[in-house]
Amino acid sequence: MKNEFKKLMKHDMSDDCPICHAENLVTTTLIPAAASWEIANDLPQFSLALHGAAGLLSAMIEEGYKRDQIELALKELLDDFEGSIATNTAMAGPPQGSA
Ligand SMILES: [Zn+2]
Repeated sequence: MKNEFKKLMKHDMSDDCPICHAENLVTTTLIPAAASWEIANDLPQFSLALHGAAGLLSAMIEEGYKRDQIELALKELLDDFEGSIATNTAMAGPPQGSA
């Protein structure tokens, strides 16, 4: 991976880590906005998530990033998120009302 690509992946462990800031923006702003746009435009749930992500990543390809680097980075990020989801689910216990 090119150094500039590593910069997009690596947390710097500071209080104002730019990668954490980007992740927070996605969680607090982009995800709720996409959900609202889908509802407002009568679009299937997650249609903007999938096509928005592909569109944003295609902008990286236009800027000269290699598709295989992007796919590898995306796989790493999704693996991390899946791990976090599994951990959060385990910590939350069984769904409410299932007992
Ligand atoms: Zn970070």
